Amino acid sequence: MTRRATKIVATLGPASSDPALLEAMIIGGVNVVRLNFSHGKAQDHIDRARLVREAAQRAGREVAIMADLQGPKIRVGKFAEGKVMLEHGMPFVLDASRTEPGDIHGVGLDYKELPRDVKPGDLLLLNDGLIVLTVDAVRGDEVHTTVKLGGELSNNKGINKQGGGLTAPALTAKDMEDIKTAMSFQADYVAVSFPKNATDMEMARQLCNVAAAEYRHKPGLIAKIERAEAIPRLEEILLASDGIMVARGDLAVEVGNATVPALQKRMIKLAHVHDKVVITATQMMESMITNPVPTRAEVSDVANAVLDGTDAVMLSAETAAGKYPLETVQEMAKICEAAEEAEGAEHAELDADFTGQTFSRIDQSIAMGALFTAHHLGAKAIVALTDSGSTPLWMSRHRTHIPIYALTSKLATQRKMGIFRNVHALLMDTSADRDTALMQAETYLKSRGIVKTGDVYAITCGEPMGSPGGTNMLKICRVG
Ligand code: PGA
Ligand code: MN
Repeated sequence: MTRRATKIVATLGPASSDPALLEAMIIGGVNVVRLNFSHGKAQDHIDRARLVREAAQRAGREVAIMADLQGPKIRVGKFAEGKVMLEHGMPFVLDASRTEPGDIHGVGLDYKELPRDVKPGDLLLLNDGLIVLTVDAVRGDEVHTTVKLGGELSNNKGINKQGGGLTAPALTAKDMEDIKTAMSFQADYVAVSFPKNATDMEMARQLCNVAAAEYRHKPGLIAKIERAEAIPRLEEILLASDGIMVARGDLAVEVGNATVPALQKRMIKLAHVHDKVVITATQMMESMITNPVPTRAEVSDVANAVLDGTDAVMLSAETAAGKYPLETVQEMAKICEAAEEAEGAEHAELDADFTGQTFSRIDQSIAMGALFTAHHLGAKAIVALTDSGSTPLWMSRHRTHIPIYALTSKLATQRKMGIFRNVHALLMDTSADRDTALMQAETYLKSRGIVKTGDVYAITCGEPMGSPGGTNMLKICRVG
């Protein structure tokens, strides 16, 4: 079993849809598979979800599925020739009422409100900022611009406004349909694109819960932080979500590239303070779309995200459409492991985490008690018998080199915990009485080589067993 604490999210796409390849990628280190709802139809996602579940089963590993909603990504329409070449200084019109294909003078828009969201002087960034247009005037449905930074503009490329301010609601009619699709295969996580505030997340959660009620399923909700407006509202968005994604692609376009690294660090810290998970995403291994090895800068980027404390690092086009999906995953896993090892075994900051802490919840204080004792005793492992996954989540919000083994009898909980940093989620029948379950847990861990005779570990459980939020016991054991 791997000791890697940082988890890997890989986006499924044409380059990774071969069953044997996907299985190899899961064995190679993928913990979460992201289905990108910006591409494909409902049935494609249903088929892909089945592909993932089957590949995971063959690999003998559980993976979580994250359904990533398209959101109100504002896009230009199509061009008669598929693309145009925009040159500096040229006029170009974005026309919300245009129905015919675009040309060198202008193009249609899928977002009809754009003319109401912009004013002269605004900068519009197209295709992730590779093309920049200055707004000169708005006339009815037409936004008249001048090309400030030229380049090739092709069908359906995205538009962002520098500094933010596009009013599109976070959940489109398509997203609402996609939520139903994602719940039909019980996606473990749903990622919401472009949320502006807590309300966007609350609405998404309601829609998910309604759509998943018949399956008695509750997905985790991830807020993709990719709008300038989301930054001052990070805290309220976090509180309304189970986690966030540092969605560096769109975010960088809206707030400027140079601002993103510091924001990444702040978001990771803040997520952990609020007991939430955090994924660092976009262009992490970008050059491996075409090359068999990453650049030095990419290696550093992944390692730094690990050192920042991210739960997971994400691959997008690298695994969805790249030439080396398996190699990318393997390479990323290696970088994570090396960064974790270099992190320094002593973690003085863990003690600082305990100082002045007060808890209102028994289960949370047990989680911290286990962490504290294991840390100062030099325990081999921390073990949590868990129903909802919240005890391992609390434990994993603090930095420790001691691996956390989360044993649950619920498959959905096991999958959800797959994204938690430093948590190894395992399935075990925990329905027996407490003493039997504790014995079974030790046997289970021994049989997997996780602990051996003489090792000390800390284990938490609840009495009576199997009630969510019921953890109230900590036991320190020496393996017999
Ligand atoms: P996307 O989101 O890949 O769905 O655009 C991630 C990002 O913007 O970084
Ligand atoms: Mn995005």
